[in-house]
Amino acid sequence: SRVIDSAASGEEARIDRAIRPKQLADYVGQAPVRERLGIFIEAARQRSEALDHVLIFGPPGLGKTTLAHIIATEMGVGLRQTSGPVLEKPGDLAALLTNLEPHDVLFVDEIHRLSPVVEEVLYPAMEDYQLDIVIGEGPAARSIKLDLPPFTLVGATTRAGSLTSPLRDRFGIVHRLEFYTLEELSKIVTRSADIVGMALDAGGAMEIARRSRGTPRVANRLLRRVRDYAQVRADGHVTQAVAQAAMDLLDVDKEGFDVMDRKLLSALVERFDGGPTGVESLAAAIGESRDTIEDVIEPYLIQQGFMQRTPRGRQATRMAWLHLGLQAPAGTAE
Ligand code: ADP
Repeated sequence: SRVIDSAASGEEARIDRAIRPKQLADYVGQAPVRERLGIFIEAARQRSEALDHVLIFGPPGLGKTTLAHIIATEMGVGLRQTSGPVLEKPGDLAALLTNLEPHDVLFVDEIHRLSPVVEEVLYPAMEDYQLDIVIGEGPAARSIKLDLPPFTLVGATTRAGSLTSPLRDRFGIVHRLEFYTLEELSKIVTRSADIVGMALDAGGAMEIARRSRGTPRVANRLLRRVRDYAQVRADGHVTQAVAQAAMDLLDVDKEGFDVMDRKLLSALVERFDGGPTGVESLAAAIGESRDTIEDVIEPYLIQQGFMQRTPRGRQATRMAWLHLGLQAPAGTAE
């Protein structure tokens, strides 16, 4: 599996519970998001109202789920969690909504993957706390209306662009999460190391930060691998040299790119001559889905300036050629 894959696995889930920030004050970085949410939460609490619906978007592993849980904790309410593809029928959503306590948070991950019929149920629920649902079929079918408790829908998505506009318009608070800076990532792994009782010095933390693709989940995952390495090879103490040796072993390079990133860059450079080329052709060339390229691999490569999205397709920049040890042709984008 991909070392810096951003989906959670079993071992990860366990340690994750311990290191996942529980309050806004422990949530590192994303200053604008933290400040605005802090104000909105405080205001809603003072008025004893449910917080307005919140939409959070950004690549996997940047802290969307964490933020949803923090919102519930700070509001002092319960949280129920589901995801777009899991809610197959309107009844699935209705069951969740009717079980909410007043002001609870309903967290819907991958909300861009809700089916249209389920989405229809969500509109009046979000707008008027009303459930409007048809039960039964054919002549026996009837429509029922139910009042719901005031609640907060927190939706998370990797792609705000694929949300229908009626759904998007029903969120009062919309936040985009950004990739984290090296200082922020280094703070995150230092905090995690403290919690699990691991000896990590500043150089070691920075080295892990540099290779984390701007993503806290990746940083914490690399930290665990580095811990294993340090335990076996370096008396458990993680310095910069130890972190570096561990990550070389994992095939995560100096830019934090792994096998998949390099595969994408080298396909773009070597097979398509640097592009521009369509994302579908790239997907076919590296044997990944278009969604994986768009949601997981390319956002960081683009943010770091190795790749560009142009109207004519994806294009490699000079840095991409250099990274692969190749000379960029004249006229290559910087
Ligand atoms: P997403 O839902 O966006 O895929 P998660 O919320 O599951 O991402 O975050 C992945 C992990 O990264 C979390 O378990 C948490 O430990 C860590 N994390 C995310 N954001 C932050 C943050 N701002 N500060 C500290 N740790 C974070």
